[in-house]
Amino acid sequence: MTHIRSVGIVGGGVSGLAAAVLLARKGVAVTVYEAGPKLGGSCGTTEIDGYVFSDGAVYVALPEIIDIAFDRLGLDRRAVLPLRPITAVQTTRLPDGTTVTFNRGLDVRIAPAGRASDGASARQELEAVLAKWRPVLALLTDEILVRPFSLPRLLWKGWRHLPKLRGTVAAELDRMIGDPALRAALAAVTLYTGLPPERMPVVQIVGLVAMLADRFFLPEGGMGRIPAVLAEALGRHGGEVHLDARVSRILVEHGRVAGLEVEGHGRRAFDAVISSTSAMTTVTRLLDPAHVSAGHCRKVATAPLSHRALSLQLGLSGIIDAPSHFMSRVPFMDELQRMLRPSDGPPEWLAYTVPTVTMPELAPPGGSIVELYPAIDQNLSADGWTDERANAVADATIETLARLHHLTIAVRRVRSPRHFQDRMNLYAGAIYGLSPAADARAQFPHRTSVPGLCQAGQTTYPGYGIGTALMSGIFAAEAIG
Ligand SMILES: Cc1cc2nc3c(=O)[nH]c(=O)nc-3n(C[C@H](O)[C@H](O)[C@H](O)COP(=O)(O)OP(=O)(O)OC[C@H]3O[C@@H](n4cnc5c(N)ncnc54)[C@H](O)[C@@H]3O)c2cc1C
Repeated sequence: MTHIRSVGIVGGGVSGLAAAVLLARKGVAVTVYEAGPKLGGSCGTTEIDGYVFSDGAVYVALPEIIDIAFDRLGLDRRAVLPLRPITAVQTTRLPDGTTVTFNRGLDVRIAPAGRASDGASARQELEAVLAKWRPVLALLTDEILVRPFSLPRLLWKGWRHLPKLRGTVAAELDRMIGDPALRAALAAVTLYTGLPPERMPVVQIVGLVAMLADRFFLPEGGMGRIPAVLAEALGRHGGEVHLDARVSRILVEHGRVAGLEVEGHGRRAFDAVISSTSAMTTVTRLLDPAHVSAGHCRKVATAPLSHRALSLQLGLSGIIDAPSHFMSRVPFMDELQRMLRPSDGPPEWLAYTVPTVTMPELAPPGGSIVELYPAIDQNLSADGWTDERANAVADATIETLARLHHLTIAVRRVRSPRHFQDRMNLYAGAIYGLSPAADARAQFPHRTSVPGLCQAGQTTYPGYGIGTALMSGIFAAEAIG
């Protein structure tokens, strides 16, 4: 590291900012170039008429990873980024009229009363799920995700759990949960991955185990506080940030990174570069193909991409009558894949988030926010999305929502896959970069085949998610040198 005095960073999301803070603390001259008009990327927020909407991430699961990352950056997470627990977590309505409500931790209610399975028996089953999977969660948060990936380490620390890791979320829930309504409500928690439970590797069950372990939070002030806190730290350590500064080329000279070409800034020399945009973008758009190894090109060409999404966000002038932060109307588990299929008209099924249940101040007084990701055609490329098409999906979704709640819409924000691709710079509009079903081998290493160039971000280990994206930035910064 002693010979690295200056580092240019592509992208001001949480991974690029984490890398920047770590390096700036070590006395390296760091410059962050962000293509957009603000920092935060997929963890930003946008305020419209007093409503604070998430640009991507809507909640923090497993803040212990953020705690470790912040600690490595010299930040006291509890002091600079207070988190509010999501206590009224989820209400799910099933086709037979059953309602499953998760409050904090294992506090679950199933209505109507008098069914074969009630809250008490459900709680026993949930305790068994927690007892089985909590050690895996602890292994991930304490050992695996907070260190650069090492297969020997994974085998050494995790061999006891390996037999558990075969199969799918659906098979595991079938085995462990007797009540079909409870099973569907649990499976619905993993739908954010864009995959049905029967195709979801069982390790992703940790997402819902985090819920049962009471580890869902919102940062005070909204998700955008996370990049804001990092940017403040970077400023204190003398780091430079340029907004509306798109990197068009990573410059390579004599077989080593030499700097960046940035729109509006020209060519800037750096001893090293960290690219936090996806590895696919780095390789196909920012590097001259002559500098990329054949193996790296192949990996990019065959990268299993995550799904694309359409985001519909509503600012309501009244309080929506939703009891929980996460709301859903879902079919039973064996039909849950129907929720991921686009519908021609108003969707039959719906999952939506009401962040103002946890944090009313995200809306003006007396108002509320609803955020939805209706199912869309995954065969349509991001470029195929017109405003007209996106608004038609939004209209149909609102029609279904309006049957469930009285809506007084003050602000309507619709963002199609084209927006995620062109404005948020997510490769092909794939919101998580790589598919959550892909294993660690699909992720890209922090060191690249170009000396002096490292990669951070959600296509590198340990992948997507706020805490893990922060860790990837830290690993990339440590890999420089
Ligand atoms: C819709 C959505 C919902 C999500 N929900 C959750 C959630 O609830 N909880 C959770 O933990 N995680 C969630 N995630 C994942 C999480 O938000 C991301 O994994 C994380 O924010 C990624 O951070 P990053 O810095 O790696 O990438 P990004 O946030 O994508 O940041 C990369 C930055 O680089 C910039 N950039 C790209 N190309 C260039 C260029 N050529 N020049 C300059 N700048 C460039 C981009 O504009 C962007 O700001 C969600 C993601 C999305 C998209």
